[in-house]
Amino acid sequence: MERGASLMTEFLRHSGGAAVIDGGLATELERHGADLNDPLWSAKCLLTSPHLIRARKAVCFCISLGQQICSELNAKENIKMYMDHYVWMVSDPLSVVVHLDYLEAGADIIITASYQATIQGFETRGFSREESEALLKKSVEVALEARDIYYERCSKSSSSAVGDDKILKRRPILVAASVGSYGAYLADGSEYRIEGIMFFLFCCVPFSSGIYGDAITLKVLKDFHRRRVQVLAESGADLIAFETVPNKIEAQAYVEILDEENISIPAWFSFNSKDGINVVSGDSILEFASIAESCKKVVAVGINCTPPRFIHGLISSLSKVTTKPILIYPNSGESYDPDKKEWVQNTGVSDDDFVSYVNKWIEIGASLVGGCCRTTPDTIRAIYRTLSNNRLLQPCSNLVDLKE
Ligand SMILES: [Zn+2]
Repeated sequence: MERGASLMTEFLRHSGGAAVIDGGLATELERHGADLNDPLWSAKCLLTSPHLIRARKAVCFCISLGQQICSELNAKENIKMYMDHYVWMVSDPLSVVVHLDYLEAGADIIITASYQATIQGFETRGFSREESEALLKKSVEVALEARDIYYERCSKSSSSAVGDDKILKRRPILVAASVGSYGAYLADGSEYRIEGIMFFLFCCVPFSSGIYGDAITLKVLKDFHRRRVQVLAESGADLIAFETVPNKIEAQAYVEILDEENISIPAWFSFNSKDGINVVSGDSILEFASIAESCKKVVAVGINCTPPRFIHGLISSLSKVTTKPILIYPNSGESYDPDKKEWVQNTGVSDDDFVSYVNKWIEIGASLVGGCCRTTPDTIRAIYRTLSNNRLLQPCSNLVDLKE
């Protein structure tokens, strides 16, 4: 077996058969005071990146009009804004802190903030190809830095036991480089209120139906994703997380890129569902899973950003058609009101309810469990505790040992 292909098997063995994925970024960034409506948050970055100022003015203009809807900006401008916010985010030490929060909550895998970061998007923003690729790598560097700091904290900690609320326990930790779909890149944000922009930058729903139309061929998708995948594969990440894959054609594009470019790190595929039966575009899970199954470099397959109530059924369906480890990281189940253009409060499940499902998900075949949009370190900590009660936690110093 190729070393890359065995990464997940070995990782899960060392993690006692089940592992914890991190949770949503946006809520956590906000908790730490990252507020796009506050110009101070990004001021430092603006000073060093004067070419961002124009877009910033557009944002301020919107805010000054009072909850002005972004539809006044065209799609191209909105893609530029997303890219600017990404630059601010990865340039801010806060992003390291957010990854650290998840590690200290018990996450064994942290996912980079590159979901919507694309070379094409950066170039639209006026960055050179070289700068764009560096910005893409930056999201991985931030996560790797957080992992280093975490290991350092673990060595300094007097005990590997679980503290009051911080879990400082040396264990294998993987950094997964996020790749969002073509639909995520297209998302022009025009449907969302300005205060939602930053949130949606780090969020996967409800962007795309996954139905691209005839013009978006396999070749178009491969051309779109190819360089980004190559750059992330060489960034120091342990694997690539193809997230919220909306249809079989995009899954096929990823598989072909992994093989054609001889990508040196493995990948996982996760899809989202809006009906609990099919992939979001309506493609069947069977077809989706068989594409993932055809590629040795795909080391896990599963579901993300889907309400918890659908997960049980989807795992059952998936487990019949895949031999690969199954991963799940649902969203909080909250619903999004397209008229009001905001999340509807209290429509999701509580952390307690979310976690009450976890054992059942593991029982029927999931091996990796985490959270997607609107979940927090509290959710992840609760998942960690639930899994810790069940799994055999084997001592393993770090990923270097794991890889050897
Ligand atoms: Zn999500």
